[in-house]
Amino acid sequence: MMFDVLIIGLGCAGYTAAIYSARYKLNTFIVGVEDGGLGLTAAEVGNWPGIIDITGPDLMENFKKHALSFENVRHKIARVTKIEKIDGGFRLLFDDGETVEGKTVIFAMGSNKRHLGIPGEKEFSGKGVTYCATCDAFFYKGRDVAVIGGGDSAVEGAAIAAQVAKKVYLVHRRNEFRAEPYWVDRVKARENVVFVLENQLTEVLGTTKVTGVKLAKPFEGSDTLTVDGVFIEVGSDPATMIPKQIGCEVDAKGFLKVDAAQRTSVAGVFGAWDLTNASNYFAQFVTAAGEGSVAANSAFSYLNTAGAGKGYMAGG
Ligand code: NAP
Repeated sequence: MMFDVLIIGLGCAGYTAAIYSARYKLNTFIVGVEDGGLGLTAAEVGNWPGIIDITGPDLMENFKKHALSFENVRHKIARVTKIEKIDGGFRLLFDDGETVEGKTVIFAMGSNKRHLGIPGEKEFSGKGVTYCATCDAFFYKGRDVAVIGGGDSAVEGAAIAAQVAKKVYLVHRRNEFRAEPYWVDRVKARENVVFVLENQLTEVLGTTKVTGVKLAKPFEGSDTLTVDGVFIEVGSDPATMIPKQIGCEVDAKGFLKVDAAQRTSVAGVFGAWDLTNASNYFAQFVTAAGEGSVAANSAFSYLNTAGAGKGYMAGG
């Protein structure tokens, strides 16, 4: 069977695209590695309009239920390993050996967490080093941890970790944060958060598991912090490996180039959320949903003009 739309990504953008696509009566296939995507990592969502407070996992469960309530939406958990252009569309290959074909594709698979690349990081990954403070802080009840970074993920992560950990060192390379002021105020209000600013990690220390981190510059007379957990939240890189396989262009920063209609440079292929350059790179639940809806609308238009729609580079 040839689907109308293949959506890669089971997060806010992908599920929104599926909801719109289903309501346009398009046969829709949605696939991804994990239901909920990055939305799962939000312990508290206070900026989804109309709902004052909800957890990321609860919000994403609602998205999934909504999308899968339509008969014309098929869902699969798998990793896409390859995409190929075929006559009249595209073929996706999965890590379980299966394939699926569709007339259009919406890339909504987000980004991959960045690593620091310092000694000890890889060795202690999963043994005290993790890349999601809000997901893993719960395991460090009453212990000391370090959160690295100064964006929303790090500062929100530090605020959440401070609710359970004894002490949270927030290590950031500058003395100002790029995170939302809401989260900066939240961490500043916690007495157990210690700010280690204008400093960086040079090594993760440990034996069988993490025992501390080494700093580039001494902090309060010592160049090490004694911690049991290290949450590295230094941003992500857009997951453009699959789009590049069919020639989709990326911008100078490496993000998938899309126009205001979420069209990539390849006809019939669209992109939504933080792997793209859309919404001024502002990665939020609301922008994910907005971009997902526009991508589905563009796929619908493309299919209704009998494939006459063009990638933006072709002047479509
Ligand atoms: P981000 O905004 O890119 O921030 C990454 C942080 O890590 C920056 O503070 C950066 O420092 C620092 N950093 C980067 N490379 C580093 C390195 N090699 N060594 C030390 N520090 C390094 O990433 P993010 O916080 O993961 O957020 C990603 C996107 O998701 C953003 O658009 C964000 O708004 C969104 N998000 C939103 C929420 C929310 O709304 N609650 C929650 C999570 C994420 P500099 O500041 O010096 O560059």
